[in-house]
Amino acid sequence: MIRQAFRRALLGAGLATAALLALPAAAQQAGQQAGQPAYPSRSITIVVPFAAGGPTDTVTRLVAEVMGRDLGQPVVVENVGGAGGTLGAARVAQARPDGYTLLLHHIGMGTTPALYRRLAYDPVGGFETIGLVTEVPMTVIARKDIAANSLAELVALVRRDQTKINYANAGIGAASHLCGLLLQKAIDAPMTTVPYRGTGPAMTDLIGGTVDVMCDQTTNTTQQIRAGSVKVFAVTTPQRLPALPEVPTAAEAGLPGFEVTVWHGLYAPKGTPAEITTRLSRALQAALRDEKLVARFADLGTAPVAQERATPEAHRAFWQADIAKWRPVIQAAGQYAD
Ligand code: ASP
Repeated sequence: MIRQAFRRALLGAGLATAALLALPAAAQQAGQQAGQPAYPSRSITIVVPFAAGGPTDTVTRLVAEVMGRDLGQPVVVENVGGAGGTLGAARVAQARPDGYTLLLHHIGMGTTPALYRRLAYDPVGGFETIGLVTEVPMTVIARKDIAANSLAELVALVRRDQTKINYANAGIGAASHLCGLLLQKAIDAPMTTVPYRGTGPAMTDLIGGTVDVMCDQTTNTTQQIRAGSVKVFAVTTPQRLPALPEVPTAAEAGLPGFEVTVWHGLYAPKGTPAEITTRLSRALQAALRDEKLVARFADLGTAPVAQERATPEAHRAFWQADIAKWRPVIQAAGQYAD
């Protein structure tokens, strides 16, 4: 509906100029309003609220490349890590709502509104949704020389050494933080948390043996697991993963009910026109059906969401439900970032 009305407005504005015809067809469809250059007329930045080389970064770079082809403009990634993803989210909430600054963030968008009682931006009202991207399984991993060869042995080690075991995460609000909390709750034993700006640098330290344990997404861990650079104990999904068929589920390894997947979505600042978020959602859908992207996601243990979930409406409904799901859990745990 919106798209049709927008097309009519474009035609009414008589926009079939030579300059427009020179743009890729998809870019033209986003069109222009009288006197405005067609969107997008320059490169778009997607802010990743974690360090380069981590799982959010990996997913975003794969998506950005194909979206850029569809939009006829480069889509570049900027890493704004720190404070569990809230620094990058703040950057986008405070950006101009013109479609040139976007955010790709994960389940942290569902937990942050309850975890952080004071923020420099509105964690719910500050954004327009564009579409869901993927839901990524997690893995429980450790430095390769840790004295445990199964999840049961790891649990025994943590229980025995308690806070001597270090747990790396990407700050409060990160998926690695959430997974670590659930893990410590499931095994009823604490570890000492070491926060990073993203699990990319945390992985480097885990491989180097500076930290002991991490729970992170397959998009960051699959290659390191296959290379034997880290030890893996379990995947956090009800079924084993085709990308890591030899790795048991947490239930098989002795922790039934320990399940987490990390959903990701693409956002724009509040007030970004619907024509632009709709255009971006079309480009996102194109990226998510790209054969190479689908194959790369599969190799990293994940898959794109179904096309109908990569829309502003489906994303908003899912996000709202996730905020409602986590708020009582976080309040009951009394786990706040501030
Ligand atoms: N997404 C990761 C996490 O939440 C961090 C990262 O992407 O680096 O832990």
